[in-house]
Amino acid sequence: MLIVRCARVPAALLPARLASAPIDPIEPTVLCDLAVEGSRIKAVAPAGGLGHHSPAREFDAGGSLVFPGFIDAHVHLDKTHTWHRAPNRSRTFIGALQALSDDKSHWSEADLQRRAGFALRSAWAHGTRVIRTHVDTSTQWGERSHSVMAGLRREWAGRITLQTVPLCGGNDYLTADGEKMADLALRHGASALGGYFTMSDDLPAQLDRMLAIAQERGVGVDLHVDESGNPRAECLRFVAEAVLRSSFSLPVVCGHCCSLSVQDHARAQSTIALIRAARIGIISLPDCNLYLQDRRCAAAQFPRTPLWRGITLVHDLMDAGIAVACASDNVRDAFHAFGDYNLAEVFAHSVRLAHLDARLEESVRVVTSTAAELIGEPDHGRIAPGAWARLVVFEAHRFSELLSRPRSPRLCIDAEEIHHPHTPDFAELNDR
Ligand SMILES: [Zn+2]
Repeated sequence: MLIVRCARVPAALLPARLASAPIDPIEPTVLCDLAVEGSRIKAVAPAGGLGHHSPAREFDAGGSLVFPGFIDAHVHLDKTHTWHRAPNRSRTFIGALQALSDDKSHWSEADLQRRAGFALRSAWAHGTRVIRTHVDTSTQWGERSHSVMAGLRREWAGRITLQTVPLCGGNDYLTADGEKMADLALRHGASALGGYFTMSDDLPAQLDRMLAIAQERGVGVDLHVDESGNPRAECLRFVAEAVLRSSFSLPVVCGHCCSLSVQDHARAQSTIALIRAARIGIISLPDCNLYLQDRRCAAAQFPRTPLWRGITLVHDLMDAGIAVACASDNVRDAFHAFGDYNLAEVFAHSVRLAHLDARLEESVRVVTSTAAELIGEPDHGRIAPGAWARLVVFEAHRFSELLSRPRSPRLCIDAEEIHHPHTPDFAELNDR
């Protein structure tokens, strides 16, 4: 057994009984002692409340902030770390599609393994313990990418839980390929069906067919929708209507949903009511949205200052009781040139971009417990008896410190092992 003394844990990630006293909204934490037995948390008590266990090792966290292992609920491990050879020179969405389409000829097994493996080592070092990656899928080359991801899932089992979701066009579901791609992905252990949907007359039929395929196979769906500043992009609304129309009973998650925040207020609120009725979870991708949305340099000769942050209506969704997570999305590829799978940094950026400091206590859930629930890993992302013992111990003692230095060193506790992981060197990737 390992006893962790004096851990400053975000109140929202503790059992309700430990967070029942008034919580300071500026520093919403509770000083705790934790008992770890094997791979699970056995007990959590207010600091000083666990007594002495023998024989047990003890670790004094000294009042440092302690988070559960992070959950990165939406990434693209097949595209990651390609920026150096496939940069997006226009920095636009279309430019990103073209750059990565051209790069796909390099996606050999070894190339995918090296880039995605590097990403997993980075994520591990930063304290992430569950990752859901979308995987570009077509009947021609989906097999290789899914096979590599399944191999990495086996390689990382016990350290990082790696989930996969196939990414294809929504129109594929109206062809025989849709079912083939779904089955290809599920054969390699996919956790949900996915797709990139755009507005079209066929959209309701595409969604109905996809939901029927998912329902037949007993899996949920995790979709890319409305990644633009076009107020007429309302795929999210169509997804909610399709879910309600078909009484789809499995988990539904929609990523991006950017255009919701540029729509007429009443219209957006009525869409939010539909999302709530359909029990759809939302994953916001703030870093990628900030990078790609409101780019106005393509049409102009010179870059223009962005005026819109690009994110969805995070507060309105939360106010409506809708589960909202935040995640990395693309990292060092044509959709987003930066990133390091550091969820402390994604959290800090999300707080700044969406003003989540106005609800700091619950904000921690976007990269922990809510993210875990949305992707079906409810024993991750919280610090409570029975949860997985995955802990990230920061140097920071206060939220203000953590949010100011989200890249600062940390140590990790996995099961009863205390370790100081190191991020890999980018130089490993530079020769390809
Ligand atoms: Zn994505």
